[in-house]
Amino acid sequence: MPDFDVDLFVIGAGSGGTRAARIAAGHGARVMIAEEDRIGGTCVIRGCVPKKLFVYASRFAEDFEDAAGFGWSAPAPAFDWPTLRDAVAGEVTRLSGLYRKGLDAAGVAIREERATVEDAHTVRLARTGEAVRARHILVATGGWPAFEPPIPGGELAISSNEVFHLPGLPRRMLIIGGGYIALEFACVFARLGVAVTVLHRGDNVLRGFDEDIRVRLREALEHAGIALRLGCTVDRIELLPDGARRAHCSSGAPVDAEVVLVATGRKPNTAGLGLAEAGVEMGRAGEIVVDGDSASSVPSIHAVGDVTNRVNLTPVAIREGHAFADSVFGGKPWRMDHRIVASAVFTTPEIGTVGLGEQQALAAGHELRIFESGFRPMKATISGRAERVYMKLVVDAKTDRVLGVHILGHDSGEIIQAVAIAVTMGATKADFDRTIALHPSAAEELVTMRTARRS
Ligand code: NDP
Repeated sequence: MPDFDVDLFVIGAGSGGTRAARIAAGHGARVMIAEEDRIGGTCVIRGCVPKKLFVYASRFAEDFEDAAGFGWSAPAPAFDWPTLRDAVAGEVTRLSGLYRKGLDAAGVAIREERATVEDAHTVRLARTGEAVRARHILVATGGWPAFEPPIPGGELAISSNEVFHLPGLPRRMLIIGGGYIALEFACVFARLGVAVTVLHRGDNVLRGFDEDIRVRLREALEHAGIALRLGCTVDRIELLPDGARRAHCSSGAPVDAEVVLVATGRKPNTAGLGLAEAGVEMGRAGEIVVDGDSASSVPSIHAVGDVTNRVNLTPVAIREGHAFADSVFGGKPWRMDHRIVASAVFTTPEIGTVGLGEQQALAAGHELRIFESGFRPMKATISGRAERVYMKLVVDAKTDRVLGVHILGHDSGEIIQAVAIAVTMGATKADFDRTIALHPSAAEELVTMRTARRS
């Protein structure tokens, strides 16, 4: 149709947008994608990927110590921040390049500039002023760090966007928030030798996670030397003469630190995109309201990923983008199922979780049998490290179905990915029981829990 310049215009070349663009192009659609930042989006450029590399770096601290118990001796290790920072930046650049190659290979036209929606079928490119007529528009602009309401001196803090590029490793770091980002970076920087304080408004960290996991993670954080200030907010941040920051709190003494990292959540990246003006229904958090097909209230405009504020995780955005492209351009309609999504929190120790927590399952009206196991991992018996692994199965008492699995301990992200297959298939506790244990491993405990601790 000469009426449209492209079949699909994607705004945002992150995980969800890139997947949708490539799949749609593969189905023969003429696709254009715009990105105002670096190609790759939050996950690749300033999220999951560089974060996980930092996590690896931080865990060497304990590996060096643990090795001694196994007979190894070596000169005292030293850590060099610029080496890590620059290596991670290099890897991010490599991955961003691969994303670009993938788009090129699929025949997707790339515009490296901001794009906004002008009407149901028109996208305006900010730098060139070009108006592109599109049969379909997909908004995949992700999220952005939020620190609201603003406080005096808030500009003296940084967000997770900047933390990957610190000029030097600070002596002290204050982290505000008690969610994924706050705790992952607290664990990273504490192990790199920074004195870390986490200041959180709630009475415990990781609201929404299973209570037994929350309690044990909190103990582990404190054991790692992270100072936790709970039930407290920051009212004001001031700059001290020596360049450090002083955060004044709603209760207790102020906290001084060279770096204040705000990790108080993220909000959908929709400001100034022209969506409401184009008739797109927006939610209270600024998200695009979509249906199960990722369609907005304007039939030609869809949205996937964090900008829709459903389940804000990279693999979910990718799956939503794929479903959209197959459904609209491939003649193969299908929907992303958001009910069971595994996730990991890359703290040390790590959390792996899939399905319902005990409290969530009770609130949903299930009668439960709870199986749990807490033990010292084998490696710690010789390394001497004081650490515990905790595993919990949340089982529906009537159907025997495993509703949730929750693990705190080494490699729990890796373990939970495999367990998620069973949980997604609807495995029962009897299925777990007839699975033969793999010995010696930590994960074998998942199939050897015989007696319900609580029911
Ligand atoms: P989270 O929603 O996980 O945590 C936000 C934290 O900030 C909560 O502890 C919240 O407290 C607190 N908070 C919110 N608003 C305020 C405020 N105004 N003042 C003080 N505290 C506040 O967000 P993150 O920023 O940590 O991460 C964003 C999202 O990114 C995650 O939800 C997740 O979807 C994704 N992510 C996933 C990762 C992974 O899979 N490993 C890693 C990193 C991010 P309260 O609990 O009281 O609301």
